[in-house]
Amino acid sequence: MGNITNYFKKRTTFYVLLTCIIFIIPFIRINGNHLFLLSFDKQKLDLFFISFNTNELYLMPFLLIMMFVFIFFITNLLGRVWCAWGCPQTIFRIIFRDLIQTKLFRIYSGRKNKQNKPRNKIFARIASVIVFYPISLIAASNFLWYFVPPEDFFTYLDHFNEHLLLFGIILCLSLFITFDITFIKENFCAYICPYARIQSVMFDNDTKSVIYDESRGGIIYKDGEKITKKPIGGECIACEACVKICPTHIDIRKGMQLDCINCLECADACSNVQARFNRPSLISWSSTKEIKTKEKLKFFRFRTIIYIIVLCAMFIGLVLTAGSKETMLMNINRTTELYTINKDENYVDNAYVILFHNTSKQDHRFYLEVLDDDISILKPKKDFRVKAGEKLKQIVILRSELKKVKKHHKHINIRAYALDDDKIFTIKDTIFIYPKEKKWKEKKK
Ligand code: SF4
Ligand code: SF4
Repeated sequence: MGNITNYFKKRTTFYVLLTCIIFIIPFIRINGNHLFLLSFDKQKLDLFFISFNTNELYLMPFLLIMMFVFIFFITNLLGRVWCAWGCPQTIFRIIFRDLIQTKLFRIYSGRKNKQNKPRNKIFARIASVIVFYPISLIAASNFLWYFVPPEDFFTYLDHFNEHLLLFGIILCLSLFITFDITFIKENFCAYICPYARIQSVMFDNDTKSVIYDESRGGIIYKDGEKITKKPIGGECIACEACVKICPTHIDIRKGMQLDCINCLECADACSNVQARFNRPSLISWSSTKEIKTKEKLKFFRFRTIIYIIVLCAMFIGLVLTAGSKETMLMNINRTTELYTINKDENYVDNAYVILFHNTSKQDHRFYLEVLDDDISILKPKKDFRVKAGEKLKQIVILRSELKKVKKHHKHINIRAYALDDDKIFTIKDTIFIYPKEKKWKEKKK
């Protein structure tokens, strides 16, 4: 007996697992921080249970580069594995077409022939869309939980009227999902999805794909044209089980095609047919090189090694950068006034607007100091409190004696620190401006 494959069962099992993981992730919190959350509302990014303020989005380049390199890597290695095993479009289509329309409402005769026209059950077809809509609604909400955490989401639900934008987004998204899955169908993969268009440039001869073995099955298509129904001497018996089952309505025996989502349903179908002749499937998940040379697939090759090196470098960069996360932020801006000379004209004052941001989880009292012996702080004299996660704007006035003037301006460092935690501090530089010496001396005479 040939080896009967059941990729469909493996894929559906994987979908269940993946759905549970995607559903649960937004609920997992450690010390109030999520595994992943990009909150525009609270201006923060939670990553691996560490919270970063949007002022600290220096992590984003690492994440984006890692995401793109990972897509290149996985596509080069396993082809359109995402389309078949992870894409919500594929998962929803199986739920809608195979479960709701075929099993529940019997609109289609069976899963094994997707080329049959649907039965003329107009009410059943409308009912199938209605049954699918709540799934779209849950999926849209689940997606939003990565941006609005569930603990806030369910509170907002109680005050529905105050969050119409959020619930409007969910409504639009859920309607789009329903429209896409019930009307656009696999045309989305073939004509809209950008990933389908660009993935072919990431392929090489070692990339895993769904391939019909012409050397065994026989040549059916030449230059895209069908030259025979049943190849003479080939093992393909022209049963077309692989064509009938294909959700994107293509014939894989024609060669690799943009529409193929690598779902491997044709491989399962052919393995059942060929098993009767004690032969393995003519369609398999392999590479063009593997089919030609019968050599085992090489996972570690030049391109994949380069991708792995870049991924590791980015990951190390991400960990090191995340590790140096600041627990307080300080932004110094000068006011429009360059300086003021005080009444008795022995002093010059510079004013600044300083924004303090306590990015830690506790409230702290902060204090300022200028790391320069010639300059002192006129205001604020006392320490000040900044609540956990909040920002505070302070007018800060620095003072220097006029006799200390040596040049027009001076670079200075200002240190802000928490009085109750010596690990929380930051130092920022700015400039202190003096009047020209001649000018104030003349003024004094
Ligand atoms: S299922 Fe296999 S044997 Fe049947 S037509 Fe397709 S490739 Fe040929
Ligand atoms: S050709 Fe095969 S792998 Fe590709 S979409 Fe059709 S059934 Fe799926």
